Amino acid sequence: MDIQRIAGQKVIDFKSWGKHFLICFKNFTVRIHFMLFGSYRINERKEATPRLSLKFAAREINFYTCSVQFIDEDPDIVYDWTSDVMNDHWDPDKAQLKLNQQPTTLVCDALLDQNIFSGVGNIIKNEVLFRIRVHPESMIGALPNEQLRELIDEARLYSFDFLEWKKNYVLKKHWLAHTKTICPRCNIPLIKKYAGKTKRRTFFCTNCQILYQ
Ligand SMILES: [Zn+2]
Repeated sequence: MDIQRIAGQKVIDFKSWGKHFLICFKNFTVRIHFMLFGSYRINERKEATPRLSLKFAAREINFYTCSVQFIDEDPDIVYDWTSDVMNDHWDPDKAQLKLNQQPTTLVCDALLDQNIFSGVGNIIKNEVLFRIRVHPESMIGALPNEQLRELIDEARLYSFDFLEWKKNYVLKKHWLAHTKTICPRCNIPLIKKYAGKTKRRTFFCTNCQILYQ
């Protein structure tokens, strides 16, 4: 990849969509995808070799263990900002429309669908479902309207809590279900299962999380 294309160019914007971080230049955009283990350092370096390192007049930013790609199209055409749960343009009604179109999908899979809930990952999935007391193997079409709306709303709310806690290094201590063995509400063992088509680690309580099917 012709990384030198960036040299001497001016950054005009930074954007994000889910786990994609976008560095915008006048005629192209650099897309960083953090995948599972990607990270970055601002004015700091890790021991590892960066995939991309940008040096500015006095500062620098380094990206590790991520995928780097050029996008030549306008990012507003490539990305649907309304599906990013943390974006100002997030549209919960549109998420509901998309969910209504797939009634047989399990909620644990729906939450991980980046076309509906861009930015939501496995931790957020487990915590949101615990918060709203919905069993991860419930079917979208069987959810009462109130629970469907809660699912959509909490996906965004929890994401902001997640960010706040992560920034303050207190994320893990706020987990109620993810990686836990006992339900904090019922004081009985939680179930751990690789649920749904996505087969990601899922933690839930069969007593206080209702199975809608
Ligand atoms: Zn419980």
